[in-house]
Parts: sequence; C-alpha cells; structure tokens
Amino acid sequence: MSKRVAVAAANWKMNKTIGEAHTYMTDLAATMSEVEGPVEVVVFAPFTALAAVAAGAAAGRCGVGGQDCYWAAKGAYTGEVSVPMLKDAGCTHVLVGHSERRRRFGVPEPELLGDLGCVFGDNDATVNRKLRAVIEGGLIGCLCVGETLSEREAGDTDATIAAQLAAGLKDVDAVAVAGGLLAYEPVWSIGTGKTCDADEAQRVCAMIRGEVAKLYDAGTAAAVRILYGGSMKAENVVSLVGRSDIDGGLVGGASLALKDFGPIIAACAAS
Ligand code: PEP
Repeated sequence: MSKRVAVAAANWKMNKTIGEAHTYMTDLAATMSEVEGPVEVVVFAPFTALAAVAAGAAAGRCGVGGQDCYWAAKGAYTGEVSVPMLKDAGCTHVLVGHSERRRRFGVPEPELLGDLGCVFGDNDATVNRKLRAVIEGGLIGCLCVGETLSEREAGDTDATIAAQLAAGLKDVDAVAVAGGLLAYEPVWSIGTGKTCDADEAQRVCAMIRGEVAKLYDAGTAAAVRILYGGSMKAENVVSLVGRSDIDGGLVGGASLALKDFGPIIAACAAS
C-alpha cells in the first residue's frame, strides 16, 4: 500500500487569544510556502480561537481542530461545546481523550486536584461517546491513548493502551478508524521535557497498529495514522517520525511558536 501521509498536529492547549491566533495563521501560511513534501497540518485550538484558525486555514494549508467536545448536539450542558458547534466554527478534526482531560488523581498535580479525584474526568466510556459523536458529525477524530508512569513501571503499558483502544473504539466502524488519527501519548512525557525513546515509541505504535488489526483487519491497521506525542521538538522529531509506525506528531509546547513547529512540520513532510 502507498505510504501514509504524515501529520503534524499542533495542540495549543489553553493558549492564544483570537489576535494571537490570527498572527500565527499568517505565519503558518509563510511557513507552509517553504515546506516541501506531503504533510497534513492540523491546529487544535481553544474554542474561542477556532474561527480565527479557520479563517487562515486555506492559506495555512491546515485542518482546524477542537480540543474536546460533548456528545449531545445541544441542550442543557452548561460549559460544553458540541460537534455541530465545532463544525459551525470551521472544524475538521477533534481531539478526544487527551490525557489532560482524562487526568487521574495524583497525575501530575495532586495539589490542584484536592479531593475531587480528577479535573475533567474523561474515562474510556465518555471518550468513546465523544469519538462516536465526532464521527457521526462528519469530523475526523484523533483518539489519544497512553500510559501513566506508574502503569509503565508496573509493566502495564501495553495492556493499558490495548484496553483504552478497545473501549475508545467500541462501535466505531473500520472506515472511520482507517480515515482517523490515533495518538500515542505517554502521560509521563507530556509537557515534562522527557521524550519517549524513539525505539520504545516505535514499539508501542507498532503494538497499537497490531491492536487495530485485531479489532478490525490488516487493511484498517495499515491505513490509520498513528502520531507520537510527548515533548516532541525540533531536536528529536527526525528520530521519531523516521520510524515505520510513527506517522507524525501531536505537539504541545513546541507548537506554540512557528520557529519551533516549522522544523517539525518540515521533518514530517520529509519522513
Ligand atoms: C500534547 O499536548 O499532546 C503534548 C504532547 O504536549 P507536549 O508536546 O508539550 O509534551
């Protein structure tokens, strides 16, 4: 089968005003005019900045992503944003199950969590409902999976991720999986500066592809793009996206400025 086109995805998290988003998109258009080779760029922006990203998306040659959604289309869900609303704002993609939304007690800021036990509290069941809503709404989902440090130290990395995939992809059909994105994001490496070793990231991404083959079939597994996320930067991107099962990156901190994200886009395009 033909080589999968790499994806360079920016996750701005809770950063950037509308004005800053417009400036970034102007700079992204300039950056993309220099990029050679096939690459898909997606900018996952805060809800308030989505329209600004969408306004510059054609010139920036990028997809527009929401960072979360609720599964109902509308109703009495104060503070939530639905898939039709994201579509209306110009979205093409939605992140689902990012570890900062699945965050569990003690990981990584217990003092912020108090006795709540979680901040946002996404679990496999809600992640699955969100992903199905994204797909039913005609958008592309990026399902994030990954182990915590304690799960890794207990030798539970593969079992944790396999369980997240099976639950997150429940009742999602093969066509949507093949056309969608998966992101392997070891929780201990997100925003910490600790990148997963490229051999290990490749091993886990290959394992994820194997799980997709078990849940679906070989063709679906061969088609789905699997991104690595966790302290990706210009210094480590080449070794990561050069691996056969790593089809790009989901990038937080290093996506906020194009002087950092530009080389990541270029490395994905060259991979
Ligand atoms: C992320 O937000 O998904 C992420 C991987 O963040 P960072 O690149 O900052 O580790």
